[in-house]
Amino acid sequence: MPDPQPDLSADAIRAVLREVWGHDQLRDLQEPAIRAALDGQDSLVVLPTGGGKSLCYQLPPLLTGKPTLVVSPLISLMNDQVASLTANGVPAAALHSGLGNAELRPIESAFESGELKLLFVAPERLMNPGLLAMAERAGVACVAIDEAHCISALGHDFRPEYRQLASIRERLPNVTLQALTATATPRVREDIISQLALREPEVLVGVFDRPNLTYRVLPRAKLEDQVMEIAGRHRGSGMGEGEEGVIVYCLSRKDTEKLADGLTKRGIEARAYHAGLAPKKRSKVERDFTTERVNVVCATVAFGMGIDRSNVRCVIHACLPRSVEAFQQETGRAGRDGLPGECVLLHSAADIARWRRLIEMPGDYGAPDPGFVSAQLDLLNQMRRIAVGGDCRHKALSEHFGQTYLPPEDADGCGACDVCLRELKEADDAETTAKKIISCVARFENHAAGGGRFGAKHLVEVLAGAKTQRILDYGHDSLSTYSLLADLPRDTIDAFVNQLIDQGALARAPGDRPVIHLTEASREFLAGTRPVRLIQPAAAPKTSKRDTASWEGVDRDLFERLRTLRRGIAQERAVPPYVVFSDNTLRDMARLRPESHNEMLSVHGVGRKKLDDFGDVFLSEIASAIAAQS
Ligand code: ADP
Ligand code: ZN
Repeated sequence: MPDPQPDLSADAIRAVLREVWGHDQLRDLQEPAIRAALDGQDSLVVLPTGGGKSLCYQLPPLLTGKPTLVVSPLISLMNDQVASLTANGVPAAALHSGLGNAELRPIESAFESGELKLLFVAPERLMNPGLLAMAERAGVACVAIDEAHCISALGHDFRPEYRQLASIRERLPNVTLQALTATATPRVREDIISQLALREPEVLVGVFDRPNLTYRVLPRAKLEDQVMEIAGRHRGSGMGEGEEGVIVYCLSRKDTEKLADGLTKRGIEARAYHAGLAPKKRSKVERDFTTERVNVVCATVAFGMGIDRSNVRCVIHACLPRSVEAFQQETGRAGRDGLPGECVLLHSAADIARWRRLIEMPGDYGAPDPGFVSAQLDLLNQMRRIAVGGDCRHKALSEHFGQTYLPPEDADGCGACDVCLRELKEADDAETTAKKIISCVARFENHAAGGGRFGAKHLVEVLAGAKTQRILDYGHDSLSTYSLLADLPRDTIDAFVNQLIDQGALARAPGDRPVIHLTEASREFLAGTRPVRLIQPAAAPKTSKRDTASWEGVDRDLFERLRTLRRGIAQERAVPPYVVFSDNTLRDMARLRPESHNEMLSVHGVGRKKLDDFGDVFLSEIASAIAAQS
């Protein structure tokens, strides 16, 4: 019998948060989101990946005593949630097509009796009349719809089975609806509200900036060397110990295999992942990555939703992503635990042409609709502008999502991007360099051979003084601009060409041959009457202040010992390691080095249940580590 008058005060919320999750405070929007659910008001909660959406629907049923139904699109997502809740001592279960009748019955009866506080279901199952009747008997007060953008055909991940949820309001008129998503566009938000018929919903939109991520953008040169170097920053001692989770996103299946192979040969064990793998192999890679048996995965974008490893420390894009939304979502898989993460985008001007071919490729229904093609190219160009731009990356991303970026007070700029960390510098002689590049294009146009129509690759080769067959054929080695920039790396010249295009000093013709040509403004740049800005890599990447701070006072050897212990326990219990404890919790333990149950309870992320289950094992590991050190 639930308490007839449950305590729903802010103090009660805090007590449960501490007792069950071991967290000290709610994050910004969690408070109003939970309040809305407790007050019986519908809500739409928009938080970026890693923002902490789960707690918004997980906590209310513990206070009200009335169960919550959670709609989720994937079995793997449901299972992860149930494992995490169970590890914290919260009665929860999932009903999905992977279960047999013998497994379904006990879950259903536990649900009906009100014993389960959370039940996860697929949308088509929720609309089943039997389940709806059970929900009424169980006294369900709230239905949470996770990944709610799947209901909208305007979104990037429409799922027809979500459409059935449109009648949920009628079928369960007395429950409170909570829709949750990470989708940023206002149109999709409005669509969610109307599809689900939310009643005067509280709309809570979180801050899209991810301050714990450091963004870097570099011209792609020798991909494998570059990835070796970046992933090398996340390897600890390099003996398999201290190796951190790294995802490298590639454009094609072949690229993933080639790169994974190359990295493995050079000592960083990596797996390839793409939609062409047999389902068994796919799920093995997913499992190995989640359980930390493998730490580096080279993948196409098929690797994503359902990968809930919270301690991914680095996401590398080996190619320009197809949109800023995709970039935000993919980089968002780094640092979900709130600890620092590094995101590096390696791109080249050639990426646009590769994407264009993919976008224009005829599908099952013939050539794609021209409207679709131009919308996709638009998205691609927005991404490219951020990549080649010289503005703070945090600022550019926030502004893309319609939010004003407020840098932290104690940092120079954002303190967490290549621009603000001054890893890029303005080229000293930008004006002269720009003139050399622009006049080379002018020479092509004056030099009759080839009709003056050449792409960026040829332009770069002429300026670098290469001896390609094409250059010889066209006699371009006799141009006065030939080899004028021979002292610069070709990627740098390539990056400069892109930057000039962005500033309007040159243009790239649309169409299948992206020829570079002069613009109206070219003359002003040549005359030096228009200022030009060229940036190039200057310094080796530094660790951000935040990264250093996150390790402040942490005994790193102890952290690694605790990580090994965690891996063993997780394996025994067949759950992912983060279900036992997050990295944040382990770092805090390796900082505080607790010696008693009480001290253990003051560690972030240690609640009562986890203290009972794991407290002693971790305390004795800490004690023996301390003994070994002294
Ligand atoms: P989302 O579903 O929005 O991607 P999650 O709900 O998975 O995000 O939460 C991301 C991470 O943040 C998890 O590791 C979770 O334990 C942690 N977290 C959530 N809320 C809090 C909080 N109030 N205090 C500390 N950590 C939190
Ligand atoms: Zn910045």
